[in-house]
Amino acid sequence: MPKRKISLLGATGSIGQQTLDLIRKSPNTYSLEACAAAGNNLDAFIQIVEEFQPKLVSTASASKADDLYKSLSLSVKNKIQIIHGEASLKEVAAFPLSDTVILGLVGALGLESALTALNCGKRTIFANKEPLVMAGNLIREALNNNKEAVLIPADSEHVAVHQCLQGQNFDKVNNLYLTASGGPFWNEKNLDFNSIKPAQALNHPTWKMGHKITIDSATLMNKGLEVIEAYSLFEIPYDKIQVLIHPQSLVHSMVEFIDGHVLAQLGPNDMRLVLQYALDYPSRQNNLTDKFLNWKEINKLEFFEPDLEKFKCLKLAYWAGKHAQTYTACLVAADEIAVELFLQEKIKFSQIPDLIEEVLNMHSAQEPKTLEIIQKTDQWAREQAMNLYKTKYI
Ligand code: MG
Repeated sequence: MPKRKISLLGATGSIGQQTLDLIRKSPNTYSLEACAAAGNNLDAFIQIVEEFQPKLVSTASASKADDLYKSLSLSVKNKIQIIHGEASLKEVAAFPLSDTVILGLVGALGLESALTALNCGKRTIFANKEPLVMAGNLIREALNNNKEAVLIPADSEHVAVHQCLQGQNFDKVNNLYLTASGGPFWNEKNLDFNSIKPAQALNHPTWKMGHKITIDSATLMNKGLEVIEAYSLFEIPYDKIQVLIHPQSLVHSMVEFIDGHVLAQLGPNDMRLVLQYALDYPSRQNNLTDKFLNWKEINKLEFFEPDLEKFKCLKLAYWAGKHAQTYTACLVAADEIAVELFLQEKIKFSQIPDLIEEVLNMHSAQEPKTLEIIQKTDQWAREQAMNLYKTKYI
């Protein structure tokens, strides 16, 4: 396998840190050429730049770039270039010395970088699902127009499906089963959703992730976004994409074929294995985490149907996916605002789907033909969500 020369977007986040751990463990296989982080966690960012010495570094603002520069050792300062601002993310994605781009940003922010990476013919690893949800058509178009470009998911469910579909005819798929841990609340019979505090919702039972995605897991919006992501990646119709709650999180997803045979992918629930698959594909290298399943300790694998009335976000995501157009971009943007308001304790957990639904109802959807249309939808939905909060929820 040729060495993967990586541009990492979202270096200080959960995906970023886990990617860096793989690079640290296997420096002959992977190298960090360029990276981006907002700079809110400056100490962690300084440490990354000192340790890996990427040639190009991007941060959110001129003042963050200044703070970073001042904190670096002289020898590192002289070797790197620091750029800043949202547009600089695209420079990291397009960096000529990188052949692989890992999108580990939060939410909608990764969209332009994703398109840039594909247009530059990079191996583009989508650890950040929102671009595929908002603009699946534009991403597929960029992929088809660039022969060198490779798109690989880095969401555990989609890496599972990707493996199960290798060498298969997609027309012969009867059902895709995306599994969900269910988050902390799926089986709470008497819990009042109005009383849930951010700390409870952030307590995810199986996966270690950032705040936004952890809240999305608790509402099952994360699974809803993954349904749309699966459609964008594999073009399997929505009525063949099913969600199953699987509390053990060991079966990462399954594909059932028309002849009744089912292929499932299992593995330890550690995101580093998912990222390593995406980096190494189509090759396979030794597991860098040393974690393997111990079959003797697995005494049950359970599956349950999610309750769509209780977890309205999942229902809304199916609705937006099936109605397509700009509804999916609208869903992503409204969800980001709703989750942020919940984390700030400004709205209740139960109001997250209410706010999103109202924004979807107000939206005049159109064909998402251009990046501009999607960006305008994103901005509109954020504004509407904030307006609704100010007028109805305060
Ligand atoms: Mg996932």
